[in-house]
Amino acid sequence: MLTATPIPMLADNYAWLLRDPETGTIAIVDPAETAPAHAILAQLGNRLDYILLTHHHNDHVGGADALAKHYNAVILGAAADAHRLPPLDCAVKDGDTIRLGAHTGTVIATPGHTIGHVSYFFPETPILCCGDTLFSLGCGRLFEGTPAMMFESLGKLASLPAETLLCCGHEYTEHNLAFALSLDPDNPRLLARRETVRQLRAAGQPTLPAKLGDEKQENPFLTAPDAASFAERRAARDRF
Ligand SMILES: [Zn+2]
Repeated sequence: MLTATPIPMLADNYAWLLRDPETGTIAIVDPAETAPAHAILAQLGNRLDYILLTHHHNDHVGGADALAKHYNAVILGAAADAHRLPPLDCAVKDGDTIRLGAHTGTVIATPGHTIGHVSYFFPETPILCCGDTLFSLGCGRLFEGTPAMMFESLGKLASLPAETLLCCGHEYTEHNLAFALSLDPDNPRLLARRETVRQLRAAGQPTLPAKLGDEKQENPFLTAPDAASFAERRAARDRF
């Protein structure tokens, strides 16, 4: 079974290590820098086969080129953003199938945070690497897309299986939770979540991956009934 492990990078970024234990195949999603990747790969036989990029922001691609050269790894990223991503070996688009050892994944176009943003879904575990589109209890800022575009992207992700593990690009859960509680202060699920998140953060542990099934009930951007209410919530979150 494919496994996903967060690798903390920079202040609050996560790159994700995907590993197929049967073949030893290893991918890293969105490496912002090189040192934390080298450290974890040193424990895994100094092997890196693939680098998957969700979008062009430097805190997601900063280490990609150097890691690809060092390990002779293949870089995958959105064809639409090839001009502003590190040099791609494999340019992908919505619906493409990608292979990671014995596992296959699907590319899902998720524009909104940026126009060319893509997510990677591996159905067997299942694992979703969603970059800065969907966070635990939050979603990415709309730097390039419209609220309607982001609402549609989130809708695509919400249609994946409830047990899907969300491998998001940032540790933003505490602040997102405070915002969610500001909208719905007595929500028992959010209050319970607050305890879990507090304990994890106090122990220095990531709050991710989150489960899509929980997010569909608790994340204010997934429970928004339409694009207009989504846009209102996103604007309020920008000011929060
Ligand atoms: Zn970003």
